[in-house]
Amino acid sequence: MCLGKNTDTKFHPEDHYCKAQIKSVMNYLALIKDKYCIDDILILSIDDKAKIKIGVPAVSRYVHSRKYFEIHNEPTTPDHDFPISEKLLITPSGNQLILIFYLINIGYLELDLKTETLKDKYERTFYCKPANSQLHIVNRPFYFVSTSAFSHAKDIYQIIQAKANKPSVLALTSDNGPDFSPNSYLVFIALGRLWKLLDLDQLFISSYAPYNSRYNSIEIAWGTMSQALAQIVLCPQAKEYIQREGGRVEMFRIAMAELDSIWGKTYYAEKLVQTRSIDPLDAEYQDNPFSDYESVKDVLNKGEKSTFYTKYKPEIKFLFRHCYRRSYYLHFKKCYKLDCSHCFNKIRHRESFDVLDEIDDKFGTLPKPILMDQVYDGEHYASFLDYKNSETLRKNIKEKLEKEEKKGDKCYFCNWYFGSSNDKKKHKIFCVG
Ligand SMILES: [Zn+2]
Ligand SMILES: [Zn+2]
Repeated sequence: MCLGKNTDTKFHPEDHYCKAQIKSVMNYLALIKDKYCIDDILILSIDDKAKIKIGVPAVSRYVHSRKYFEIHNEPTTPDHDFPISEKLLITPSGNQLILIFYLINIGYLELDLKTETLKDKYERTFYCKPANSQLHIVNRPFYFVSTSAFSHAKDIYQIIQAKANKPSVLALTSDNGPDFSPNSYLVFIALGRLWKLLDLDQLFISSYAPYNSRYNSIEIAWGTMSQALAQIVLCPQAKEYIQREGGRVEMFRIAMAELDSIWGKTYYAEKLVQTRSIDPLDAEYQDNPFSDYESVKDVLNKGEKSTFYTKYKPEIKFLFRHCYRRSYYLHFKKCYKLDCSHCFNKIRHRESFDVLDEIDDKFGTLPKPILMDQVYDGEHYASFLDYKNSETLRKNIKEKLEKEEKKGDKCYFCNWYFGSSNDKKKHKIFCVG
């Protein structure tokens, strides 16, 4: 969502930092694909902001006319992002209050890595931007089912389970919303568990800075999905269903079947969209590896006082010891430890780890983007490829990084940089001992 922060031309270091970090992940993956033919890499651009209304026009009335708006009557919100915060929106209509129900839509857009390189105007070398590919959408009845980092991880788990070729590396790009923010412990546990369950060599999540979500590839896809719903009312008899006993379930089922049918016939990036809906009565939080959202939340809130503490401590500690975290970035990776039964001798692509070790011998992750006065006017980050290829650049950046690292407060046992004193306290409850 654009809130206008970037309408001015001022340099926002955080925006550039996040973009550089994401570019660095994409360029590292393109490099291992290009140089070592590692092709089992899955990249998903993810977003959970779309909401589709039931019983009234599904999307904004402006959607049908892409370019022309009446003067003084231009849309004020992006068409996929309705301004609601409650499960139900109550709209005054005459003297009556009408309940409007929503479907919440979570999108997972696959991106294809490109192995062609280009130079920008600052003479930096990059791999070309990955291309949009298969779009997956999962629809949920917002009144019955809520979404969380765990429901998203479950969606990704199912998308991957359905694939004939399972990836060894998964990379996610997101806006920094709470359910996808690398700063959130729930996101950390949900994705860490995903990394372990899918036996991935590596899992990255890097997010855009706040107010920068428009750069996330999937944002553009919502435009096409809104277009497909122009002038459409899902379950036009919604009002009658609501008043009937059990009618809400029926209403959601009708609306979701209609939505799946329309979007299922819609193409995005030359591929039919894969869409599915979660039934209102589906016990979504049962019988799957991500069904324990409430107990994980409890253990994170109460720490040692939670009844689940002894149950979850070993898992959370294991995940901490396999994760590198810094702002807007999480990197789960198999380790080389002889006593680690999960990782030992199970790395599928050792070459991809060698590349990481070569560029950053300390933590084996992608180096933190860093601005250097003597490079690119001190306002542009070095490209991953330039860094990889130039020993001088690497030496300079490593020196500066070391100074920065000394300033940062990091866990003694793992590669977790503390975001705050509260973060440090919470982390230690699970990581130490
Ligand atoms: Zn391990
Ligand atoms: Zn730690």
